[in-house]
Amino acid sequence: MDADIIVIGASPAGLMAARNACEKGVAVILLEKKEEIGNPPHPANSFFKGMLDKCGEKADPSYVVHYLKGMKIISPSGRTVEVEAPGYAIDKTEFDRFYAKKIMKTGVDLRTGVKVQDIQKEGEKFTVNTSAGEFTSKLVIISDGINSKMVSHLGLKTMKYPEDIAWGIELDIRSPGLGKPKMFEYYVGNHAPGWKTTYAPRGGDNAAIGAYVRRCGTDATPYLNAWVEKFKKFKGLEELEIVRKLSGGDPIVTIPNQYITDGIMVAGGAAGQSGIGYAMRAGQICGDVAADAIRKGDVPKSALLDYRKTWEKEFKAEHYLGRIGLETLRKMTDREIDEITKVFEKEDLSFIHGSSVEQAMQVFAFMLKKKPSAILRCRALLRNK
Ligand SMILES: Cc1cc2nc3c(=O)[nH]c(=O)nc-3n(C[C@H](O)[C@H](O)[C@H](O)COP(=O)(O)OP(=O)(O)OC[C@H]3O[C@@H](n4cnc5c(N)ncnc54)[C@H](O)[C@@H]3O)c2cc1C
Repeated sequence: MDADIIVIGASPAGLMAARNACEKGVAVILLEKKEEIGNPPHPANSFFKGMLDKCGEKADPSYVVHYLKGMKIISPSGRTVEVEAPGYAIDKTEFDRFYAKKIMKTGVDLRTGVKVQDIQKEGEKFTVNTSAGEFTSKLVIISDGINSKMVSHLGLKTMKYPEDIAWGIELDIRSPGLGKPKMFEYYVGNHAPGWKTTYAPRGGDNAAIGAYVRRCGTDATPYLNAWVEKFKKFKGLEELEIVRKLSGGDPIVTIPNQYITDGIMVAGGAAGQSGIGYAMRAGQICGDVAADAIRKGDVPKSALLDYRKTWEKEFKAEHYLGRIGLETLRKMTDREIDEITKVFEKEDLSFIHGSSVEQAMQVFAFMLKKKPSAILRCRALLRNK
């Protein structure tokens, strides 16, 4: 065999899976179709410190372009809720390069410019056919992103609600001083059905604005165009220099489903695990479990289930709560969103802490105390929309 494990896709999930498996002493080849790591970049451009902490990682100045203090959630009528949550605007190409260099030091055999075409199983061996020939291994980790060809090729239904992928576009823009503020701004309402439009300061004159929608087709352009005009008005800008446009799908509320089978594990966007930090953590768990299975010489599905067990323990409740939240938002009228936002406006929300379930309970209790009738607005979830 060429390796114990072949990882497909040098994504946040794939990089972590390869590193963790390699650190446990198994031989890993990581195949990436891009000629150069991080180029062209994925549109993701920021993350919160809390999630990086969960991965046991520290942000590195080589890829951080701007440090942020938290986020403002802004309702259709402009009501604002401020949440303290340190975060980072990042250069995604530098981020990918940082981790690629780091993992190669652990011994991962990273091959770029190698596009995987299919995976065949013969007895105990997987043959991975690529643009650069065949590679063989005992186990395969698929981390080739949201549009995973390998998952479709194997017939795995990795997302419970694939119709709920959020489709988004990010524009890198420039205007004097636009990158200086220290808060992300997320605008919710029916101008972006199912999720949000965004403004992320990126330091100096640089910022990114984006639009993300669900169940409105895969092209968010009309929502983005409307958002550009609105944004210019909000910020009093005559013109904006558009530097770059990147788009894609984000499986934020699709709920991971069937992501393990005999000798095969799926991680990151390909498994419905959305977000850089979440994909990294999933990759870590996946890599650890894969290496343990290889060392025991046992890779059927039953030997890989610790990946699901650990992932569900850490994230299942959070994913379901997130889905309930975003589905309620998608079904609410702008007026209802305003009413809910009013409950939290100008409040000190630093009391919210703990696990996602604890946080949800604290938010619920706060609403019950401050304005019980606002809870009725959450009935929107039951609407057939
Ligand atoms: C517009 C947009 C903005 C987003 N912004 C953010 C954000 O700011 N913060 C955040 O946390 N999350 C964000 N997300 C979500 C997040 O980007 C993804 O969930 C995250 O990148 C997960 O990455 P991944 O590990 O699944 O794979 P990807 O990052 O999609 O990587 C997949 C890799 O596999 C490679 N590959 C694919 N096919 C093959 C093949 N056949 N052979 C070899 N290699 C292959 C690709 O070249 C790529 O390098 C955003 C998503 C979108 C669509």
